[in-house]
Amino acid sequence: MDLYCKRCGEPYDMDNVNFEMTTLERIHFKDGRGCPSCYGHPAPEKRPLRAKLQEAAEDVMGDDMDGVAAMMEDAELEFGEDF
Ligand SMILES: [Zn+2]
Repeated sequence: MDLYCKRCGEPYDMDNVNFEMTTLERIHFKDGRGCPSCYGHPAPEKRPLRAKLQEAAEDVMGDDMDGVAAMMEDAELEFGEDF
């Protein structure tokens, strides 16, 4: 299951976030400063829907990242190509 960058919407597998990102990358990813793809670059003009949904899912689920990833998977099925 994937988690999404809250800034640019780039998808990352949970294992990638938990085991392959450096500690600093993981901190930036989780606090919304960006992912390895977008951190340090200008913010996208319009945040993708999946970036906003990731933020909302974290607001609801807190630190339960398995729950967040499950919600995002459901959202992807619900919204299809608009996701
Ligand atoms: Zn990003």
